[in-house]
Amino acid sequence: MSAENLICPICHYGKLCERLITHSQIFEGQLIVTPKVPALVCDVCGEKILDDEVLTRLSGLLGQSKHGARSATQRHSWP
Ligand SMILES: [Zn+2]
Repeated sequence: MSAENLICPICHYGKLCERLITHSQIFEGQLIVTPKVPALVCDVCGEKILDDEVLTRLSGLLGQSKHGARSATQRHSWP
């Protein structure tokens, strides 16, 4: 199956083309911008559809940074 044959599920008119997009999302009140994210973009309405795998990877990255921030802000025990 080729991506060229995918019809946009939003407008049912445009074709979905594989593009690298800049994905931005709000995570814990912060704007997280991830450049060069592979996505299917509709050439008519501009709808961006991200692969499940990509979404999982993105949320995994956020989870890691969240975890890292937590351990970085560990309280020091007073002497
Ligand atoms: Zn569309």
